[in-house]
Amino acid sequence: MTDLSGRVRADPAEPPVRVTTVTTLPDRRLLLVHAHPDDESIGTGSTMAHYAAAGAHVTLVTCTLGEEGEIHVPELAGLAAAEADQLGGYRIAELATACAELGVTDHRFLGGAGRYRDSGMMGLSTNEHPRAFWGADLDEAAGHLLEIIREVRPQVMITYDGNGFYGHPDHIQAHRVAMRAAELAAVEGLAPAKTYWTAMPRSVLEAGMTHFAEASDNPFAGIADATELPFCTPDEEIAARIDATEQHAAKEAAMRAHATQIPATSWLYSIAGNFGAEFMGVEYFTLAVGKKGPGAGPHGWESDLFAGLDVDGAPPRAPVTSAGHR
Ligand SMILES: [Zn+2]
Repeated sequence: MTDLSGRVRADPAEPPVRVTTVTTLPDRRLLLVHAHPDDESIGTGSTMAHYAAAGAHVTLVTCTLGEEGEIHVPELAGLAAAEADQLGGYRIAELATACAELGVTDHRFLGGAGRYRDSGMMGLSTNEHPRAFWGADLDEAAGHLLEIIREVRPQVMITYDGNGFYGHPDHIQAHRVAMRAAELAAVEGLAPAKTYWTAMPRSVLEAGMTHFAEASDNPFAGIADATELPFCTPDEEIAARIDATEQHAAKEAAMRAHATQIPATSWLYSIAGNFGAEFMGVEYFTLAVGKKGPGAGPHGWESDLFAGLDVDGAPPRAPVTSAGHR
């Protein structure tokens, strides 16, 4: 078919002029930077599900495939790094299921799946693997995250503290990469307004220690004082307490999706059985960058990570443009 000018048109339905379709992301955009598949669910699953259910755009960036993890499903033991070395690929599927349970649809691997490899625990020879995330060039890795920040323009970012919550090299590196990417984004005026780090308040840990003191599966066995735990944070240093108890079942389902990593007999589930929604559905954060918004209680804990930010009804900051033909 030709039009009046004689130009050949491939499709009669195709508009004769350039068409630009503009869609916008939701007003509230949350970016999470995690080290391995399963960290998102264990550490921040309820918060992710909470904001996804509320209509926020939740973007999860996972830095490695978790190739060096232990395998708690006996029939899959042959996938281990020292055997078929297929665990990483398998965990992509576990993560996809977990994200579905959390209602999170925007998930990426830093630099693409397989770009960075699980470094294993600190000091192991796996730290030296050529693709080990621990050895990643910081600016290159941050550059991959910067691309995502440019696209999504999150107002809030969540990652770990400088010790990676508990000292795993990939968690420490995820922290470094996230913070560096935010610095690079700031140069372009695109830095998230707030950056939070995952944390556990001392009072919550002490309550758990008391509860489990006589239990046979006491996860705090050998711990005399909560402050011995690397992630123990004084209550007054906590900035936000996200009550997502309505999502506790989604979090537990997402954790169960990571079956190779979290045995069904894990103390995580026994705590869930004892503390229920309170354990699974409430997550805590310190505020590393940005201005704390209005809060409540003795320490002024925020109940919303977007507290104090002018995000509702703001003009769209991240139009996603797809040009039509020609
Ligand atoms: Zn991890």
